[in-house]
Amino acid sequence: MKKLAILGATGSIGDSTLSVCRSNPGLYQITLLAASSSVDKMFALCREFTPLYVSMSCKIAAEKLRSLLKVDNLSCHVLDDEQALLQLLASDYVDSVMAAIVGAAGLKTTLAAVDAGKEVFLANKEALVMSGALFIDAVKKSGAKLWPVDSEHNAIYQALSPKLQDTIGACDLSGEGVSKILLTGSGGPFLEKPLAEFSAITPAQAVKHPNWSMGKKISIDSATMMNKGLEYIEARWLFNATKEQLQIIIHPQSVIHSMVQYKDGSVIAQMGNPNMRIPIAYVLGGEQRIESGIDSLDFFAAPDFSFSAPDFDRYPCLKLAIDACFEGQQSTTILNAANEIAVEAFLNQSIKFTQISQLVERVLNQYQSAAIESVEHLLEIDSQARLSASDIIKRDYLC
Ligand code: NAD
Ligand code: MG
Repeated sequence: MKKLAILGATGSIGDSTLSVCRSNPGLYQITLLAASSSVDKMFALCREFTPLYVSMSCKIAAEKLRSLLKVDNLSCHVLDDEQALLQLLASDYVDSVMAAIVGAAGLKTTLAAVDAGKEVFLANKEALVMSGALFIDAVKKSGAKLWPVDSEHNAIYQALSPKLQDTIGACDLSGEGVSKILLTGSGGPFLEKPLAEFSAITPAQAVKHPNWSMGKKISIDSATMMNKGLEYIEARWLFNATKEQLQIIIHPQSVIHSMVQYKDGSVIAQMGNPNMRIPIAYVLGGEQRIESGIDSLDFFAAPDFSFSAPDFDRYPCLKLAIDACFEGQQSTTILNAANEIAVEAFLNQSIKFTQISQLVERVLNQYQSAAIESVEHLLEIDSQARLSASDIIKRDYLC
């Protein structure tokens, strides 16, 4: 049995991963679960899956969990130290890692798994967006096996030839006859909303995605379509795609999860009900298809499919991300950092929905784009951009 670590175990992707594990007992031994502070949820998971190790990034939460486990006589070892977690990820206790911590907080652990040459199931798109070439170089150097979990990238991966699948991060798309990667996106909850009403959008409205059930941050990113922008950058790195090889298509029904267009005019699409357990089952199964627990599509009950080009007036975040993608690594790091601060501020009702893109653009405009040489340099740029975004909020946006 392979040994699986689930990072972000208490979140939406964590839930779906554990659900697929339940449907396929005997496939993985869960040796490590990591999260931030949801003690009760983690305690329930410890009782059910008895991992050898648990990591809580919040020390108070770790202490509470230790007390609960003691009362129940459970022997999971609880870590609360990042260095210990990074070492554990590189150890023989772990073969495969579901990287599903949200945001930049997942960068170090995802990179640790990559550096150690583990099998990495990549949900944490922000880690790749912010570290781009450094991340891909680390994959090449260590020989880590990278599997895309994001439904679009998973769909694209499924539609590629085995040769391209084996060279993820360094794909020769045109050499294998690929003319375009067609990245689909639903357009989120505000596809039809009059633009004049955008500044009054509330967090409660924005987190309600019409087709997918997800964590709060990615739900807001889906409403602004920054999520599709991050996915555009993610696709650039995973599939070594040029600007000409990437196209975004609005497909509100979320049935086609993305497509690959070949030079002979063929288009291969991957379809399914919009549920993350399907791509997660694909990556956990590896070479073989396993149960996801999700029904297949019912084509007679499926909605009519429609397609359109994205409107950048409606989705300015998408335009910012596309522009940043080929500007230089610093731009995508700043874009991601400023967006994380903006989304948090919007969720706390400190800024308006329309100020998310304004804030990201203002922070991007403060810096000249440049190459990033190391992870330390990357983290420095990330912190600077966060400070700049917080300063603008305090100075210009807070009422
Ligand atoms: P979520 O908010 O539901 O869960 C986040 C998880 O990360 C939680 O377990 C939380 O405890 C953990 N976490 C946060 N900060 C941490 C820290 N500092 N240290 C350790 N753990 C920490 O988020 P989600 O929707 O599950 O998304 C997770 C990642 O997967 C994101 O990068 C997202 O973009 C990506 N993703 C999600 C979906 C989806 O359907 N939810 C789809 C595609 C990609
Ligand atoms: Mg996605």
